[in-house]
Amino acid sequence: MSSANTISPSTEDFLVSSKLHYQTPASPDYDTTRQVYALSHDRPSVIVRPRDAAEVSVLVKHCVAEGVPFVVRAGGHDLYGRSVVDGCLTIDVRDINHVEVDADRMTAEVGGGILLDRLLEELEKHRLHTPTGGIGSVGLVGWALSGGYGDSSAWGGLGLDNILAAKVVNAKGDLVEADDEMLKGIRGSGGFGIIVEVTIKVYPADEVRNPKSPSFSHLLFSLSLFFYYPCPLVSGKD
Ligand SMILES: Cc1cc2nc3c(=O)[nH]c(=O)nc-3n(C[C@H](O)[C@H](O)[C@H](O)COP(=O)(O)OP(=O)(O)OC[C@H]3O[C@@H](n4cnc5c(N)ncnc54)[C@H](O)[C@@H]3O)c2cc1C
Repeated sequence: MSSANTISPSTEDFLVSSKLHYQTPASPDYDTTRQVYALSHDRPSVIVRPRDAAEVSVLVKHCVAEGVPFVVRAGGHDLYGRSVVDGCLTIDVRDINHVEVDADRMTAEVGGGILLDRLLEELEKHRLHTPTGGIGSVGLVGWALSGGYGDSSAWGGLGLDNILAAKVVNAKGDLVEADDEMLKGIRGSGGFGIIVEVTIKVYPADEVRNPKSPSFSHLLFSLSLFFYYPCPLVSGKD
């Protein structure tokens, strides 16, 4: 990094030769891409948008080798705006947003940069659903790594409860499948690398939105109503 908000010639050469998509402060779309939910005036020296795990891997290897500081960005809803930092390279993973449903296993392999509204739209095509937060522009992974609470937590648990597997580009830039220990860490706090894919649990949309069979709590509630307000025919009241 040569100065606060410019990239070094070697990083620019690398980005060009690797055919990575990137925007510098001089690029026309930079300000739109940089926008995050928090009121942040920080300006990354460059925003790089890898399209798959292999691109994340070469990018991290370059940053590590050259000592380029970087941060990760998906939905940009970090409350402190930590996914855009002055002078840092932002790895914007929003273009890694595939959804592969396995209806037999009731799971989906989901790109690490997917936003909640796109995920729900894709699952809806298969009449499936999964727990999310209430704001569609939040990133699934960032949401789940911070616990992942939402209205759906009552039937599906927290976001982190629904992560079954993860593919991660680690601090060396290698793509690894998370083992049990790393998965436990990911569910506990997240920061073990760049998550390029998670396998999540999915649920039949009709059942979780309009349960056909009453749950135990519905049953208890109905019984309590019955005994509290007895039916007029049974009780003989008017
Ligand atoms: C308006 C608003 C509504 C919210 N609603 C809810 C809610 O209903 N329930 C709830 O639980 N939380 C909610 N949150 C909190 C939100 O889930 C967290 O701030 C979450 O970290 C945002 O993720 P993001 O990808 O959108 O943000 P970003 O700013 O893009 O990312 C935040 C951080 O997550 C990490 N990260 C993101 N993607 C990856 C990845 N693929 N690999 C590795 N690290 C990654 C990075 O460290 C990154 O800096 C809300 C926040 C806001 C601002």
